[in-house]
Amino acid sequence: MNPSLKDQTKSEHSYEETLSPSDTFLRRHVGSDHEKIQEMLSVVGYDSLETLIDDAVPKNIRLKKELDLPNPLGEFALQKELKKIVSKNKIFRSYLGLGYSACITPPVIQRNILENPGWYTAYTPYQAEIAQGRMEALINFQTMITDLTGMEIANASLLDEGTAAAEAMTMLYSLKEESQGKSFFVSQSVHPQTLDVIRTRALPLGIHVVVGSFKKMTPSADFFGAIVQYPSSDGTIYDFSDFIQSLHAVGAKAIVAADLLSLTILKPPGEMGADVVVGSTQRFGLPLGFGGPHAGFFATREDFKRSMPGRLIGVSRDSQGKPGYRLSLQTREQHIRRDKATSNICTAQVLLAVLSSMYAVYHGPKGLKQIALRVHRMTTLLVTGLEKLGYKIVSKPYFDTIRVELSKVTSSEIIHYAEEREINLRSVSQHVISISLDETTTLEDVSDLLLIFNENKPLHFSLEELAKKEEYAIPEILERKSSYLSHAVFNSYHTETEMLRYIRRLEAKDLSLTTSMIALGSCTMKLNASTEMYPVTWPELANIHPFVPNNQTEGYRILFGQLEKWLCEITGFAEVSLQPNAGSQGEYAGLLAIRNYHQSRNESHRNICLIPISAHGTNPASAVMAGFQVVVVACDENGNIDVEDLKKKAIEHKHDLGALMVTYPSTHGVFEESIQDICQIIHENGGQVYMDGANMNAQVGLTRPGDIGADVCHLNLHKTFCIPHGGGGPGVGPIGVAEHLAPFLPGHSIIENGSNNSQGAVSAAPWGSASIIVISWAYIHMLGFDGLRHATKLAILNANYIAKRLVGAYPVLYKGNRDLVAHECILDIRGFKKGSGVEVEDIAKRLMDYGFHSPTMSFPVPGTLMVEPTESESKEELDRFIDAMLSIAEEIADIEKGSLDKTDNPLKNAPHTAEMVISDQWNHKYSRERAAYPLPWLRLRKFWPSVGRVDNVYGDRNLVCSCIPVESYT
Ligand SMILES: *Cc1c(COP(=O)(O)O)cnc(C)c1O
Repeated sequence: MNPSLKDQTKSEHSYEETLSPSDTFLRRHVGSDHEKIQEMLSVVGYDSLETLIDDAVPKNIRLKKELDLPNPLGEFALQKELKKIVSKNKIFRSYLGLGYSACITPPVIQRNILENPGWYTAYTPYQAEIAQGRMEALINFQTMITDLTGMEIANASLLDEGTAAAEAMTMLYSLKEESQGKSFFVSQSVHPQTLDVIRTRALPLGIHVVVGSFKKMTPSADFFGAIVQYPSSDGTIYDFSDFIQSLHAVGAKAIVAADLLSLTILKPPGEMGADVVVGSTQRFGLPLGFGGPHAGFFATREDFKRSMPGRLIGVSRDSQGKPGYRLSLQTREQHIRRDKATSNICTAQVLLAVLSSMYAVYHGPKGLKQIALRVHRMTTLLVTGLEKLGYKIVSKPYFDTIRVELSKVTSSEIIHYAEEREINLRSVSQHVISISLDETTTLEDVSDLLLIFNENKPLHFSLEELAKKEEYAIPEILERKSSYLSHAVFNSYHTETEMLRYIRRLEAKDLSLTTSMIALGSCTMKLNASTEMYPVTWPELANIHPFVPNNQTEGYRILFGQLEKWLCEITGFAEVSLQPNAGSQGEYAGLLAIRNYHQSRNESHRNICLIPISAHGTNPASAVMAGFQVVVVACDENGNIDVEDLKKKAIEHKHDLGALMVTYPSTHGVFEESIQDICQIIHENGGQVYMDGANMNAQVGLTRPGDIGADVCHLNLHKTFCIPHGGGGPGVGPIGVAEHLAPFLPGHSIIENGSNNSQGAVSAAPWGSASIIVISWAYIHMLGFDGLRHATKLAILNANYIAKRLVGAYPVLYKGNRDLVAHECILDIRGFKKGSGVEVEDIAKRLMDYGFHSPTMSFPVPGTLMVEPTESESKEELDRFIDAMLSIAEEIADIEKGSLDKTDNPLKNAPHTAEMVISDQWNHKYSRERAAYPLPWLRLRKFWPSVGRVDNVYGDRNLVCSCIPVESYT
């Protein structure tokens, strides 16, 4: 007989416990329970988690108090609480334009990509053979952009339209002739936030921004480039052909910021002679999300491909001679070129680029054109009605955006009538209103708009009457005559069944967290919980234009306020800015804050930035963007910063020392004991300390950058705070700053974002990628202080467990106190080359045959693997990974012994596709079984790489960056 319920309760739970939430989150987020933790501890040589942490994390920097964070909520309670907050947001119909338009996310795309962990938990496609699906989607994206813009080559997304424009400016600046001046012309009808981001970017580089009317501009040798908006921010469409020609005549180049949808019916900028075309793909199915995340795009000429920022997907061939996609040219651009890099972009907007490319795949060229024509027809209807009511339209010819001149009424009155109908219109002045229509606009909406302009009096005409008369309002010379999107992929999947299968087919080619752990050092691939992800597509968060009046975003402001407060508490800083939309952008924003701080104290000469040799490549690239000159600091043989070298250089440059950029724990995966001394040396010599917080997962709840001595630090919310990597973006890279730097946080030219608005913007939207910030909010709220701290401890334990179990087979490169590592460890592969010919890439590819994604390859040390398991992986999964690594070590030993051939072995031929293994021809010197099923559990959960090893050299020599003919696959 079983004991009674009452007796069971006594032995298993306290009576109170039975009343606490049954869906607490901590145990869902971390991989191991008490028992497993004890098992791992005993392998590492400890009997408690606390003693391990005491030895791993230097005593002098340990947190002295509990953090003031919210009490943890269960998953259900969290959703209820969040619903309460976000329902304070008001969802109006917004016709505000300025580069953001409401649109319809096709549900088949929303459900199967945006809300599907098979897509959103993937990593940047560095491991080509297990990332063919998203790279196909990205090559579709590149093709879509080149076709619509009429350009020759496009990259696989940038962070937003504003930063894409700024990147275009800096690219042209780097390409300019010696004889050309440093002036850059910005048309006054460029979106204001784009101008804002351009100004911020131009300043530290000494670029002189000139704003004016393009019609009145006289190109001269002073200018290296210019940017115009197409259609203009006010809605008018101009043919820029003559203007661009006049720029070319003086050796200057032209950037056109373009609206993608309009290009389906308007003459593309490429046909006007543009050198670069930038913009946003937001209205291709991406929710407004109060500003982001959205994919920026960047297209240019073949000639400039080697200077192009961001990532570029190319087609190469695999070991079987078949096509295989890979990241081309700039694959690891910053890591190699560092302070000479063309741009600091690392995380981009892959998930959003995939989504918008699928929007084009689903609608096809005809469908897109129909959407564009419909939006345009709605606009002409509105214009005809407004003119009938006696208004004058001052932005002709137009596509979807118009300016209405008022005479009898004022803007305030119109805005008031609009608000009564829950509609947002933009007041340009007391006499001018701007209206921008979009894919969601209906006849009823047009009718509502006309009623507003008729001051709520009934109309004396019907829409039907208007509709009969009106034609398209685009002059023939501006019409698009060339075809686009003729590739089969854009003409095959227009039913939901076909689309669903296409999406699923691509998804199945990619290894994501839904398959196995992705132990990428420095990238923190932890759980992205469903409860954290759910709200992202809630209309209260998704359907809000970034420039709506403040009183419509109370819910958002509560979330920002709470998250900023918690992040301040976690980092030990006074203020946080959520604006930067990737870690790299946080670095840039943080360094700008330092630069502007020095300037405010009349110390603008402080422009030296010390950066350890071990730093991530974005660090030197960002420093240069912010106007600093990089001086490299050495590391000692233990991986620590060489303090003597640092001291020497700090003193040598003490009159112009601006900053130190330091990652903590170091990129070598150790808690440096000397970190506080390092900060002190910098401060004593007049510099500021910038901490790269990519490794914050080893700090949360144990120590704080602010306490250690840093002045500013970025966080990667897409690493430490659970925003998924999305296959290479989106990201959020907020910065925390000490009190004295708070006045220098990024502002915004349109929306008061809580910072001192005297500073320029670093992103197009006031809070960057606002809609995904809720993911980190939910994570912190469900764990609370104890939970976060426990997660950090487990991250450290898991890394040490792996290091301990693998150290016999693979040397662990750097260790700290008592041979412990922090939250990641570096395995040295270099020693195998001599005896077996095996290199780090062979192990990375062979891991695919075992169903794993390789750890970070060759960063920060060439020829090594950096393993970061995170707290979310279970002991079972860690053991599986360890078994795979040990099995590979045996394979290497077999090569060394001669029982496997030195060139024809499972490592050199990895990965093995199903096609290779099943083929009637198998001429290798090892068995098929050994190739595909080297360990028993693979029979239960085999993941097949979809192509053989992709040839990198061939890919860069024969660069192809758009869709290839379908026949090449057969
Ligand atoms: C990831 C990372 C960065 C860059 O962050 P992004 O969000 O990819 O721009 C910078 N430094 C380190 C150490 C990193 O790991």
